[in-house]
Amino acid sequence: MSDFLKGLNPVQLQAVTTIQGPVLVIAGPGSGKTRVLTFRIAYLLSQGVPPSSILALTFTNKAAREMKERIGHVAGPKSSQVWAGTFHSLFSRILRIEADQIGYPSDFTIYDTEDSKSLISSIIKEWNLDKEAYPTNSIKNRISSAKSNLLTPKAYEMNSEQMSNDQASRIPQFHKLYSEYVGRCRKAGAMDFDDLLLQFFRLLQEKPEIARKYRERFQFIMVDEFQDTNFLQYGILKKLTLYQGSPRNICAVGDDAQSIYAFRGATIDNILDFEKDFDGMQTFKLEQNYRSTRHIVEAANKVIGYNKRQIRKTIWTDQEDGQKIKVIKAINDTEEGRRVIDQIMELKTRDHLPNHEIAILYRTNAQSRIFEEHLRRHNIPYKIFGGQSFYQRKEVKDLIAYLRAVVNHRDEEALKRVINFPKRGIGNSTMSQMAALAAAESITLWEALVKAGPQTRSGKAISNFIAMMAGFREKTETLNAYDLALWVAKESRLYDEYAGDHTIEGLGRKENIQALLDGIQEFTESDEEVYTGEVKDKSLASYLQNIALLTDADEGTDETDFVSLMSVHAAKGLEFLAIFLVGLEEQLFPSFMSMNSQDEIDEERRLFYVAITRAKAHLWLTFAQSRYRYGQMRYNEPSRFLEEIEPDNLEDTGGMVQELEAASAPPKARVGGAARPAVQVAASVRKIDPATFIPSASTSIEAGMKVLHMKFGEGQVKLVDGARENRVATIYFKEIDNPERRIMLKFAKLMIVD
Ligand code: ATP
Ligand code: MG
Repeated sequence: MSDFLKGLNPVQLQAVTTIQGPVLVIAGPGSGKTRVLTFRIAYLLSQGVPPSSILALTFTNKAAREMKERIGHVAGPKSSQVWAGTFHSLFSRILRIEADQIGYPSDFTIYDTEDSKSLISSIIKEWNLDKEAYPTNSIKNRISSAKSNLLTPKAYEMNSEQMSNDQASRIPQFHKLYSEYVGRCRKAGAMDFDDLLLQFFRLLQEKPEIARKYRERFQFIMVDEFQDTNFLQYGILKKLTLYQGSPRNICAVGDDAQSIYAFRGATIDNILDFEKDFDGMQTFKLEQNYRSTRHIVEAANKVIGYNKRQIRKTIWTDQEDGQKIKVIKAINDTEEGRRVIDQIMELKTRDHLPNHEIAILYRTNAQSRIFEEHLRRHNIPYKIFGGQSFYQRKEVKDLIAYLRAVVNHRDEEALKRVINFPKRGIGNSTMSQMAALAAAESITLWEALVKAGPQTRSGKAISNFIAMMAGFREKTETLNAYDLALWVAKESRLYDEYAGDHTIEGLGRKENIQALLDGIQEFTESDEEVYTGEVKDKSLASYLQNIALLTDADEGTDETDFVSLMSVHAAKGLEFLAIFLVGLEEQLFPSFMSMNSQDEIDEERRLFYVAITRAKAHLWLTFAQSRYRYGQMRYNEPSRFLEEIEPDNLEDTGGMVQELEAASAPPKARVGGAARPAVQVAASVRKIDPATFIPSASTSIEAGMKVLHMKFGEGQVKLVDGARENRVATIYFKEIDNPERRIMLKFAKLMIVD
């Protein structure tokens, strides 16, 4: 046996060395699924399998890079030629080679989410549709879901169920919108993210000889996080493997209990179908968790047990008990931030943890701000994954839009963005005129500009713009991505526009433009090919393709030792010594959007399960009793998930555990919106007769007053802060445990007694 295989337990070893036929590994978090894939690739290489015949589909490009690095240790440099990456990145590369087969230009643009939304909202505007009835975001999701389910606009229109559904949802025009959107993307020579899968699927479907080529090429296919593949991704996998005489060497690893993209169409049924579709499937179950200490594993097992529908698994660890899970209850979100940073400081000084072993996880990206502020104050380097990422910043998008429009003149979203920025006197009305012409004559916006632009009122400016862009385009033949980008930034006057702005924001923008240029330079100078190990294409088109597919979790940073901040979704597959899972409040986690059904609550629970199983040794669960959300102070109960953990696995921090214990026994089967009992109030509160209880106007409550509360009894108002709608009182209720409560006055029923 090769030496490196010694790092596997017997079942892992079997999964690694069973390389013929379909293999499925279903196992809990931390059990070595990703490790199995990595070792399997190394094993294949050691058996003489050519690296370019291995296709490994990972959740992020970062995961792919890490995988290659690890394989590199055991298998040497040829590991860089393995096709490892995300579905989107790998298939877009193939699409670029084969685009003309399905009627796209090979330098097609990739529309990111913002581009898609902007296109949708301009159609809504042009058609005078009611913006409230047709909110851009949900239209976008609906289109995305239609595409993921292989419903073309035509098929959609023929589908009576969809159509009546749209009628009922009062969006009867949706199918037309969908069709127009698809038409315009096509005209612009653009694919959105869903197209990268959909068009690849079409390619395999409609061009049998091409399908055969890739089936022959990819003899060994591997998929990580299989539970989150959607219908379309699964369809592609089938096209690549299920064909008479094709090798069917597919190995998928996943965990149904960690499926967290139901909203994107990933379902547990994937796994069940997989077993049906591929006969001769060999299934392996891994049961030992190598990642986390006992308290964490037990808590995770207990919580996920509340989900009914799942493939039952046992997960155990032979690691030590480790530390108990710590719960922090904060008065408000600011205090939550402060206490988390206090703990981080302690971890660093007392336990000597490096920053990169620490992560703060939250349910929504908006929660990051407070932690950022505290980290900055303590000079702790950190990095945010997701949220407003570098490539979403205005100035960065501006320059990228120029570059996109240079590579692909048909790219309408890019063109619209740059045509009058910096200002060159091409007004909105001229542009509407041009858009109308393009629509009327079925030509692209660029063609309309060339044809009729010079005759409009902004004629001179348009002629100059066209000449400038054509000049840039010519240079793509001779300049590499960096030289061209530098030239475009200067000649378009974009760089001057930002350099001339001496405000703090202006300086920041200039720095960002500079950072982008630096990134392009790095791209042209490095020879490492991130995805396929083939000879690197240093053209601008190739660069644009690369960045369009960077997922938020892939962004680079200079600092190497930083604390990670990210949403729970982005944390899938990762591990850290210390995890702070914050904002554990009803309505936030579980999200208020999940309160309608048991299925949605179950998905939140899986998300919680993913979150706590990222921790190797230290886990903190924190919540704030009040926080600002959407501009208003909200007062929330602790998350139900806290109560689902056995108190024995929790560490007592200031009475919290007893509170949870009191609130949790016996476990309640609560569905979504059902009212949930408050954290228990001591029995000593005297009964108040509702008949005599007349709540006072909330505006009249002031500090110093004595008040009555139906449940908490008598209290003394110590402080009132916040203005108008958001006034919050800090009241001391002497008759209850945890006597000090922060109460949002707008909702509170208090009766002034003194
Ligand atoms: P997740 O479901 O969270 O993605 P996973 O099943 O993919 O988890 P891995 O990330 O592969 O789990 O493994 C978890 C940790 O356990 C890693 O640090 C890995 O190196 C380690 N590990 C896995 N198997 C073994 C083993 N046989 N011996 C030692 N360490 C192991
Ligand atoms: Mg994994």
